[in-house]
Amino acid sequence: MPLKTGAQYLDSLRQLDLQVYLFGEKIDDIVDHPIIRPSINSVAKTYELAGDDRHADLMTARSNLSGEPVNRFCHLHQSTDDLVRKVRMQRLLGQKTASCFQRCVGMDAINAIDSVTFEMDHRLGTRYHERFRDYLRYVQDNDLVVDGAMTDPKGDRSLRPSQQPDPDMYLHIVDETAEGIVVRGAKAHQTGAVNSHEICIMPTVAMGEDDRDYAVCFALPSDAPGILYIYGRQSCDTRKLEGSEIDVGNARYGGQEALVVFEDVFVPRERVFMCREFEFSGALVERFAGYHRQSYGGCKVGVGDVLIGAAAMMADYNGAARASHVKDKIIEMVHLNETLYACGIACSSQGHRTASGTFLIDLLLANVCKQNVTRFPYEIGRLAEDITGGLMVTLPSEKDLRSPAVGHYIEKYLKGAGDTPVEHRMRMLRLVENLTLGCAAVGYRTESMHGAGSPQAQRIMIARQANLEHKKKLARVIAGIEGEE
Ligand code: SF4
Ligand code: FE
Repeated sequence: MPLKTGAQYLDSLRQLDLQVYLFGEKIDDIVDHPIIRPSINSVAKTYELAGDDRHADLMTARSNLSGEPVNRFCHLHQSTDDLVRKVRMQRLLGQKTASCFQRCVGMDAINAIDSVTFEMDHRLGTRYHERFRDYLRYVQDNDLVVDGAMTDPKGDRSLRPSQQPDPDMYLHIVDETAEGIVVRGAKAHQTGAVNSHEICIMPTVAMGEDDRDYAVCFALPSDAPGILYIYGRQSCDTRKLEGSEIDVGNARYGGQEALVVFEDVFVPRERVFMCREFEFSGALVERFAGYHRQSYGGCKVGVGDVLIGAAAMMADYNGAARASHVKDKIIEMVHLNETLYACGIACSSQGHRTASGTFLIDLLLANVCKQNVTRFPYEIGRLAEDITGGLMVTLPSEKDLRSPAVGHYIEKYLKGAGDTPVEHRMRMLRLVENLTLGCAAVGYRTESMHGAGSPQAQRIMIARQANLEHKKKLARVIAGIEGEE
């Protein structure tokens, strides 16, 4: 059965020869690096839960390629039920990690590439789809993590890829031989890149004919020669180096992003899934973005569950749980969080079969889902900070708590309601800090804004999908200007 355990995943990462830089230094052992390890634990959770019978219905699926059970993160959605289970799986993982678990970008990439290559072959007579499915079979059989990489640095946003003063601001083909292509450029903000076995590159915008060299889609092992990773900083990340568990807030799990540089990297022909077919770059962007906007209706909701729980615990610890305005704020948080979930479920259940057989979400509803995600987590975070109190940002450190000189003052003056241990109160305060201002806030707040596309990107898609003419016609009929058809 092609399912790895969490421990096997960690071992497989140790086998990779990744070129990773952090604080200007090359990191030889990423798995045991204290800043990186929590993000690896989050991905490992996608393996651990898949091996847990209680979660097998969400975490695994039967592959339409091999007939074998595979991790759902490697699966092509075969029904709207698969799409719904995907969102439920993401909520579960958000609840278990309270962070970004990173593996969704690959899942969303493979599903988008599958249907687009099928349609491209049908229209242009190319032969990408079969090649892609062979590749995916390899990914499924080996239960691999794929980093789906779309976002280029983009340079001057007012210029097309081919108009940029520096041609490398969008990843592009610089050479081609019978054996394959050579590419140069970079992908920015790459979630989970350093924790992946494979990296799957897609174009980041719809391309015109002049941008042909930028219309490229391919997959490579993450340690292929010429690929280099520069690890992104997160606020409070060096707290993980202090050896103090409480101050980290979420000591076991975290997310990760990196700037990935491609310095004249060779891609063998059998790993190329789009090579200058610029007419299909827009469809690939639209579908990948759509799937990832659906994803946020699961993962952010799961993290939101933890934040709501933390705020409610703080209300208990502060002796404020019975205040009517606190109860109402918690109700509001739940309402906002479940609204996001409703959008994630709705765009999934309204999905449809594409020509390749792979199911696609309802794009309008997926974009509405993500548009709400650019707002509601901020309000949920604001309410959590309100309930928690200012102590979450003025709290002394764990070392002070343990200090023989001042620890007893912390025990005395930071005591809350009832007999709650001060340490529990401190742990919960740090968790709220982590989710709203610390490392997890990267995933819960700023990623909610910009991940899977910034708000305006969704508004463009909402405008495109809204079918305003149909709505106008409805109005004309009701107003008696036109008869019903
Ligand atoms: Fe998955 Fe959410 Fe992270 Fe995207 S932001 S990779 S959907 S957990
Ligand atoms: Fe993301």
